[in-house]
Amino acid sequence: MATESKMDMIISLAKRRGFIYPGSEIYGGLSNTWDFGPLGVALKKNIKDEWWRRFVDTRADMVGIESALLMNPKVWEASGHLKEFSDPLVECKNCHSRFRADKVEGDKCPDCSGALTPARQFNLMLKTFLGPVEEAAATVYFRPETAQGMFVNFENVVTTSRRRLPFGIAQIGKAFRNEITPGNYIFRTREFEQMEIEYFIREGEWEKYFNHWLSEMKKWIKALGLPDSDVIYEEIPDGERAHYSKRTIDVKYQFPFGLEELYGLAYRGNFDLTNHKQTFLDPETNERFIPHCIEPTWGVERTVLAVLTSSYEEDEKLDRVLLRLPFWLAPVKVAVFPLMKKPELTRKAEEIATLLRPHFPLEYDESGSVGKRYRRQDEIGTPFCLTIDFDSLEDNSVTVRDRDSGDQQRIQISNLISYLNEKFQANHPA
Ligand code: ATP
Repeated sequence: MATESKMDMIISLAKRRGFIYPGSEIYGGLSNTWDFGPLGVALKKNIKDEWWRRFVDTRADMVGIESALLMNPKVWEASGHLKEFSDPLVECKNCHSRFRADKVEGDKCPDCSGALTPARQFNLMLKTFLGPVEEAAATVYFRPETAQGMFVNFENVVTTSRRRLPFGIAQIGKAFRNEITPGNYIFRTREFEQMEIEYFIREGEWEKYFNHWLSEMKKWIKALGLPDSDVIYEEIPDGERAHYSKRTIDVKYQFPFGLEELYGLAYRGNFDLTNHKQTFLDPETNERFIPHCIEPTWGVERTVLAVLTSSYEEDEKLDRVLLRLPFWLAPVKVAVFPLMKKPELTRKAEEIATLLRPHFPLEYDESGSVGKRYRRQDEIGTPFCLTIDFDSLEDNSVTVRDRDSGDQQRIQISNLISYLNEKFQANHPA
């Protein structure tokens, strides 16, 4: 399968089945914006819920926050974003297209081969105005990362939740960047979601906790089902890291369009808390100091794109397209079919759907041949399809068909919930 065609197939599947639609489509769209449909939102929610369960709910050393998307511009002044958060921009002197200089090969315009201007720094902060008058005093910026929300609330969190070091603050939420060249589908957009952790430590322990978060990120990537061979952990060398960082790793994934950043991990020293004048008072030693911090960061949309591309499969033997998603990611867990559209079968099948719906995200489907219905579920990654036939009316069992092997098994209706729960538990990531 050619690289381009794989992306095209995924984009078309995602549109057709309600994962991802072009934004504002009925008005001609708005370039590089995307809307998540019913299955897309379920997939995103599975990612965010598992992330939160794994890194917040099940850990004694983590708390969550949700900070505002709009913050006082002084936050961005103190953090350095107003001055420094920029990418190098070049413009074609001929067609006036603009490009990120570090993404252009050579010194010619990729569109028309015209000459390019020298690079200048372009600030990525997305501006808006608060209040009814568009005056400079009311200029604010949408946050370009969730991270600063954790730093500016550091003392609030420490005092209200009586935290000792080490501990972390987690947040999931939208971020906005006025990217020079958005593109590659949902890979680079101007509006996106991040899942970030700021893990606060004593300086002497940074290496230990850096390694801890690296290992947690590796486990997470394994849970997503991304093959090891498609992921690299790139150490950013001296001179290319931010001046305050002693170690940074870009986690890169082999997307169909190339090896690109999926996640990041950085030791940020105490740069951010120093900027915001946030300190920590050790209740045992009475010593006041500025903690250091490790920052693992994950993009939600890049995660969606990585799992869609890694799980997409064209199974020629069974003549089907398949999303081989780990079960926990699948937007629909179980599909229920009556063998035929006969009242006695549809009644029984609806009864079973009602029984299972409180336990598993479920689709009921009675249209077309069973083979066609299997294919419909395979291409959205549904792990199990249940068929209710005439024997079911006599023996109270159903046929359960496994997505990956196509194997079928008869299971008693009274055992269905525990049977499926066991299957999902066995498949759940460590
Ligand atoms: P890039 O080099 O690709 O521009 P970055 O190094 O600027 O990314 P970070 O500032 O480290 O990215 O952001 C943390 C995470 O947020 C990234 O690893 C990525 O998953 C996600 N992310 C960043 N920018 C975008 C974007 N424009 N669209 C979608 N996701 C993004």
